[in-house]
Amino acid sequence: MKDLLHLPFVGVVLRSRWFWRALRLLALALTLLVIGSGWRQHRIPGVAVPDPLMYTSFATFSLWVVWIMGLVILALVAGRFWCAVCPFGWLNGLLSRYGLKRPLPGWLGGMFPVTLVLISLQIAVYLLAIHRYPDYTARLLVLLLAALIFSSVVFRKHAFCQLFCPAGAILKCYARVAPFELRVRDSAVCAECQSVQCVSETRYWQRYALGSAVLHLQRQRPGCPVDIHPRQINDNSDCTLCMNCVENCCNDNLRMGFRPWLAEMSQALLGRGEAFLLLVLTGMVTANFSKVNVPLREILFAIPKKTALILGWQADGYFLLAALWITLLLPLLLALPGMIVYRFRSLQISRVDTPLEPVEKHEKSSLFSGSSALLLPTIPLLLASHLILALVKLNAKLGYLPLVLSDLSGVKSYLAVHLLGTLLQPGVLLSIDLLKWLVILVLIVGYLLSGLAVKKLAASDSRKGFYFAGAMINVSLLAGLYLNTVIRWLFLR
Ligand code: SF4
Ligand code: SF4
Repeated sequence: MKDLLHLPFVGVVLRSRWFWRALRLLALALTLLVIGSGWRQHRIPGVAVPDPLMYTSFATFSLWVVWIMGLVILALVAGRFWCAVCPFGWLNGLLSRYGLKRPLPGWLGGMFPVTLVLISLQIAVYLLAIHRYPDYTARLLVLLLAALIFSSVVFRKHAFCQLFCPAGAILKCYARVAPFELRVRDSAVCAECQSVQCVSETRYWQRYALGSAVLHLQRQRPGCPVDIHPRQINDNSDCTLCMNCVENCCNDNLRMGFRPWLAEMSQALLGRGEAFLLLVLTGMVTANFSKVNVPLREILFAIPKKTALILGWQADGYFLLAALWITLLLPLLLALPGMIVYRFRSLQISRVDTPLEPVEKHEKSSLFSGSSALLLPTIPLLLASHLILALVKLNAKLGYLPLVLSDLSGVKSYLAVHLLGTLLQPGVLLSIDLLKWLVILVLIVGYLLSGLAVKKLAASDSRKGFYFAGAMINVSLLAGLYLNTVIRWLFLR
């Protein structure tokens, strides 16, 4: 792996704190611009379309098209790189230095709170269509800023990231497969290091001199926002690439660069919270895929539809049920066949005179025991499917960028394109004939990488066969649904 930190020009830029500050400030300015430009924009008076500003307003376009879709592409290449420039994480780190610095209580640990935030977002998307309206988008960001201030005042370090940021939680999953990492160069150097100043928040004096005038200022080293020592990193999920340890290390012992895909896939299994998030994400991606596959959509949404009918609930009730269905029950149902097969691993058939081998404690507990191990290899496939959604969206809507930049509110652009006809409606970037092959390639690569991950993980399971069968059923079921959609949608249209 080439160490980017030691490349002639790139290394200097990556090590410069001003480079990162500039990127974070830029991201903060764009966030404020989204809030400012979208705050009072909901609809266009006199226009019958309910959500005319969805693609022409800077607020909705930049957040729901460019940022959310671009994030998936970035995650594929550079894992949690976004966290390195994220204005929310940055502000959280800065403000929490002056707050009460309480540790997060145990019951708020793990990823359950942030997964509930993700589910709430899905409910808001279904019930209010927040992604279609600039003012709702702006209010969402303000709500997140309020949560950021609360977390910073009460808790230590990056509590906002842990409690309220679904983007960080999703990147945490995807970063595991990304071909990019930050690691120590030589573990032995770390083992002998007495200062551990890379991650400790020590104070030091900094000297500024201008001619004969000298000023000494006391500074504090920012520690690691996620409380890990770089030597202990064994997968990409926790490190937010904040570069603090790179800046602080007195031995220049950090490296950053590319590595093979899935390099550390079997290093650390998913925790319960992460497995829960992955399930919810699977449901959301699968439901999103089914939007363009009517027969599949009818099947996937049949239960909430029927339940709403039986209960006599109208549209809002149905949307609430649908959001809970796709985030909680549907993914569980999809994972069930694999889990059942995997569960057979704890059955032991033996001759009467042969003592049974002791079965590990965790294998006995429930149907869901070991489910996190089963879910782990679905990450590459899920990332590929998410990437497909991103590619399709960006291909269809990125052409709006010049319009959005020329009119932040989006009102004039909408009128010019849709009512006056003085501007052409932006077209797609790639033709469908080209896009469909790209999409199918991404899906196949995602499936193969997931298969490879299954093989790697099966090698470390005491009952390889059961693990392999269960995990492959899981991955293949999802891949089948996505493939069916891609073929119907792009090849049989
Ligand atoms: S976890 Fe979220 S808020 Fe924190 S740095 Fe990453 S993207 Fe930003
Ligand atoms: S390990 Fe280093 S780069 Fe990663 S989060 Fe901690 S301080 Fe930041």
